[in-house]
Amino acid sequence: MNITIVGAGGMGSRFAVMLKQAGNDVTLIDGWKDNVQAIREHGIQAQYNGDPLVVKLPIYELAEVDQIPATSELVILFVKSNQLDQTCNQIKKLLTPNTYILCLLNGLGHEEVLQKYIDTNRLLLGITMWTAGMQGPGHPILQGNGNIELQNLGDQGEDFAQKVVQVMDDAGLNAVYSQNVKYSIWRKACVNGTLNCLCSLLECNMKQLGQTKEAPEFLKTIIAEFAAVASHEGVDLDQKEVYQHIAETFDGDIAEHYPSMYQDLVQNHRLTEIDYINGAVWRKGQKYGVPTPYCQLITQLIHAKEQILCK
Ligand code: NAD
Repeated sequence: MNITIVGAGGMGSRFAVMLKQAGNDVTLIDGWKDNVQAIREHGIQAQYNGDPLVVKLPIYELAEVDQIPATSELVILFVKSNQLDQTCNQIKKLLTPNTYILCLLNGLGHEEVLQKYIDTNRLLLGITMWTAGMQGPGHPILQGNGNIELQNLGDQGEDFAQKVVQVMDDAGLNAVYSQNVKYSIWRKACVNGTLNCLCSLLECNMKQLGQTKEAPEFLKTIIAEFAAVASHEGVDLDQKEVYQHIAETFDGDIAEHYPSMYQDLVQNHRLTEIDYINGAVWRKGQKYGVPTPYCQLITQLIHAKEQILCK
């Protein structure tokens, strides 16, 4: 398949490496100049399950979009949520009537941004449990296993969504077609809306969070706010199951892991995706008349912390 990946950070690089190795025609676009230069000169130099791997492929800066022929059937977005609107505006020339977008970003409300740029029938949404990190420009660390769930948002996109599932599966990305991707998106947002923000605010890993006596109440209250808002969007979250799913991480294999928001904000002083996680629940709650005091306070605290740390 002819695929353009927009955002060549950890996840964009992972998908580029795996899809390219499976024989797809992959082009990258990124806004981080040093990263573009490194990949252009040396290819993606990945640490792939502990082994070095170099994958060469074309890469353009966002400012060079005019040089790219608009021939991709599929555009996969892997910028951060807070970069999504501006990035789509910069690449809109590539979104022809024959293009589909696949959005696997963490968080909520991306379809509202994407519908400004593409017909709903050409929009595929999903979640992924793959992970990735960046050691430096052009140097992703790709460790472990994962999977993808995706579904077309409009009525007419299922055939293409199934084709994308096949392409992803052939690349070893373990994809399935979901009958209810909105549920999975909300369920994953609960994970990010508890672990990411609490570990970032408390500056701790998941194990340490789980050892606080406040953790159960924090989790239950935040999940209840997500569920109350989700019900207005036709999603009936099983709060007990979601709680168990999150609480399991406190003593699982990755308990000593610092969530990505912690890495972005506390370690690297980068802005966060909070407006698309707890912030989205606060915003949607206002729209539906649902009080979300924990999500509001968490969003405001993270923004205050961004102002202190991200200069
Ligand atoms: P990322 O921060 O690695 O990359 C996102 C964008 O930021 C890219 O354009 C990248 O080039 C740029 N960038 C990265 N480091 C930079 C730096 N130091 N200076 C300037 N620009 C920089 O983000 P990601 O981890 O690939 O995540 C993309 C999306 O996927 C997010 O919505 C995230 O929540 C989601 N996601 C991530 C993971 C994961 O394990 N990383 C897993 C599932 C979902």
